[in-house]
Amino acid sequence: MKLLTFDIEEFYHLLDVVVDDDIKQCHTSLYPICDEILSLLAKANVKAIFFFVGETARANPELVRKIVLSGHQIGSHSMRHKLHSEMDDEEFENDLRESLEVLEEICGFPIVYYRAPGFSLTARFLHRYQLLEKCGIKFDFSIFLNGGSHGGINESDLPKKFQSDNFFNIGGVKAYPFVKSKILGLPISLLGGGYFRLFPGTWAIAAARSSNYCVTYFHPRDFDPDQPVIENLGLVRRFRSYVGLRSSFKKLGRLVSAVDWSDPQIIRQN
Ligand SMILES: [Zn+2]
Repeated sequence: MKLLTFDIEEFYHLLDVVVDDDIKQCHTSLYPICDEILSLLAKANVKAIFFFVGETARANPELVRKIVLSGHQIGSHSMRHKLHSEMDDEEFENDLRESLEVLEEICGFPIVYYRAPGFSLTARFLHRYQLLEKCGIKFDFSIFLNGGSHGGINESDLPKKFQSDNFFNIGGVKAYPFVKSKILGLPISLLGGGYFRLFPGTWAIAAARSSNYCVTYFHPRDFDPDQPVIENLGLVRRFRSYVGLRSSFKKLGRLVSAVDWSDPQIIRQN
C-alpha cells in the first residue's frame, strides 16, 4: 500500500515558533497551491488524504468542499496545530472535537482520519488513541516510526504490527505509521518535508517504488517559494523549512506520476 497524504495548514504552522498576527495576515497562497496539487492529482488519476488544521478549514471551506468533490479523503490535523505535549488530555479532546465539528459541518459526513501536528503523538500519549476512538477516528497517521523531530515512537513501544496491512491496532484505531525510506542502507525521510525538497527527486521515486508500503506527508508551503520567511527559526530549522522550494512542485509531479499510488479508500475495506 502506498498512500499520498497532505497536511493542509498555513505557512506559519511551523511548531515551537510564535508568529506575529501581522505575518499571519500577509500571505494568502493556500488556495492556488492546493488547486495546482488537485490538478496534478487529477491528471494522474490519483487520490489522496488531506489532513486539515481546523482553523485553516474554517477559513477556507470552499477549498475543503472542492477536495471532497474531487474524490479525495478529508482528515483532521487538530484545530490549532498544537503539539500533543502542549495539551493535557482534556484540552486535546476538546481541540480534536472542535476540528471534527468544523470539518463535519463543511463536509456533511463523519471524519475518520487523524494526524497529529508534527507527528507529536509519542509513546507517552498512546492512551489518547482511546480518545481518538471515542471521537470517531478510525484511521490514524500520527506515528513517525523510530524517530522524528517533534515525536516518533520506537516499534518496541507499540503493539505488534499487522504485517500484511502495515498498521498497528491501538485502542481500536488502525494506526498507519510514517516509515523512513532506505537509501544506500540509510534511513531518510525522503517522502515528506525538508529531505524531500533537499535530495534529488529520483531518490524519492526510487524509495516509493522499492517499498511495498509508504506514506507521504507534504504541506502547501513545501511548494510555495514566495511564502514569507519566519525570522526566529534556528539555522538548521530555517534551512530545512526553506530549502528547494523552487523545484519542489516539479518533483512532486514526477513522484505522483511515477509511482502506483493506492486509493486511500482501500484501508476502509480491510
Ligand atoms: Zn502540521
